[in-house]
Amino acid sequence: MSRVKIVFIIMLFFVLSVDSQVFLKKDSSGKKVSVLSVQMESVTFVSITDICENIGYRWSWDRNIQQLTCKKNKRKLDFFQDNSFFILDSKVKQLPVAAIRHGGTLLLPVNLIPELFSEQGSELKWNAGTRTIEYNKSKHSIISASCEKKKNGVLLTIELADSIPFDYTYFYPNLIFNFVKGTVDTQTVKDNNRVGIVKSISSIQYKNSAQVSVMLANHIEEPVFDYVQDTRTLMISIKPLSIKKKPVTSQKTINKRNMVIVIDPGHGGKDPGAIGANGIKEKDIVLNISAHLADLLKKKDDITVYLTRDTDVFIPLRDRTKFANEKKADLFVSIHANAISGSKTRKESTRGYKFYFLSQAKNEEDKLAAMRENAVIELEEQPQNYSHLQNVLIDLAGNEYLKESQDVCILLDQKFNASLKSIPKLHLGVGQANFWVLNGAFMPSVLVETGFITNSSDLKLLADKKYQKKVASAICDAIVNFKKEYEIGYE
Ligand SMILES: [Zn+2]
Repeated sequence: MSRVKIVFIIMLFFVLSVDSQVFLKKDSSGKKVSVLSVQMESVTFVSITDICENIGYRWSWDRNIQQLTCKKNKRKLDFFQDNSFFILDSKVKQLPVAAIRHGGTLLLPVNLIPELFSEQGSELKWNAGTRTIEYNKSKHSIISASCEKKKNGVLLTIELADSIPFDYTYFYPNLIFNFVKGTVDTQTVKDNNRVGIVKSISSIQYKNSAQVSVMLANHIEEPVFDYVQDTRTLMISIKPLSIKKKPVTSQKTINKRNMVIVIDPGHGGKDPGAIGANGIKEKDIVLNISAHLADLLKKKDDITVYLTRDTDVFIPLRDRTKFANEKKADLFVSIHANAISGSKTRKESTRGYKFYFLSQAKNEEDKLAAMRENAVIELEEQPQNYSHLQNVLIDLAGNEYLKESQDVCILLDQKFNASLKSIPKLHLGVGQANFWVLNGAFMPSVLVETGFITNSSDLKLLADKKYQKKVASAICDAIVNFKKEYEIGYE
């Protein structure tokens, strides 16, 4: 009896596993390859990495945060183990179910694959009857053309199926690329959305050639070309003709707008922050600097300033970013002073300022700085509010401001270098780390470590009222500069 049962179970298992087999078929070869799959109740999950390898996506797995990144041309997807959130081209989105881990890889329901991995020119289809994912690569030699706004112009990317010769002509307002013997799907290769100085993209199929035409809003400088053989991607930098040549009276390029700045003096109340040799506390130094900074910014046009605290009170980290979100801040600046543990020699040899924007720490030192600032969570009443999952999710949401946050850090670094010669910067002036205080801010956000309280030379400066004003003034200059760049960016 029991033997019958075992045979039955084995047979059932066999039937189930055969049933769950999934194939992937490329139209060109007609060959089917099998893809790792797992049946969970009525849902078939397939290996994301198996799919990637068969349709030309590159992938990488970050063990620390259990993140799978898949990339092809301009399409980028990030999946997280046991998490239904994912990132598509820097935007956080949600799947109906979480990605599961099995056999050392992440899996997703097979019916979600086409929508996630189809891209311009190559389409995926799930055929439930034959349990096959059908992959149809573009038959055209020009697969796609798209624009991306860059700081000083636009990057035009043209994906090709094969390396084919081309030439170009520029006759304002058109920039035309002519591909000899090329073919193009004129319905796919077009875009009427304006990106920077590019008004639209269109394509034309001729008898012996194909054309991609870019309509411009400005005269441009000689375009610069780059071709990536591996991915058959043609990249063309398009820069507007130097603005200096234009008459100054042209007001259109600058869109004056009010900017809301939230300044966050670190620590406060029962949380003193770092404490210096003579009992000087980080919370007091940063409050002074922040107050000066607020005064300076209030004098500037079109800037509204808020402080998360203007007295010696304790504010949980999360309330600080919540405050900034409520004020609809355009920039969040958290101000701190650094500290290091260890011997006197170590303390005396470590000094300088450093700027951070939110991200995973890139090195041990940045990780330590983040851990030290994050330690305040232990002083807060509800530390469970900061669960790991939430950390990841909020972190992702902040992702889209990474570039701006990094820009602010670079500006801060420049201004400090220029005006605060008496304090050296610590290694690289800009770092990336996962600070709680920056987590949850839905805007560009940076953390300024003004200097080391544990270093006697830095402490002497940081405790000096005149120096505090100088620091505030350097931060103010960086913010004003950021505002200018921001306004031009809105052109
Ligand atoms: Zn601090």
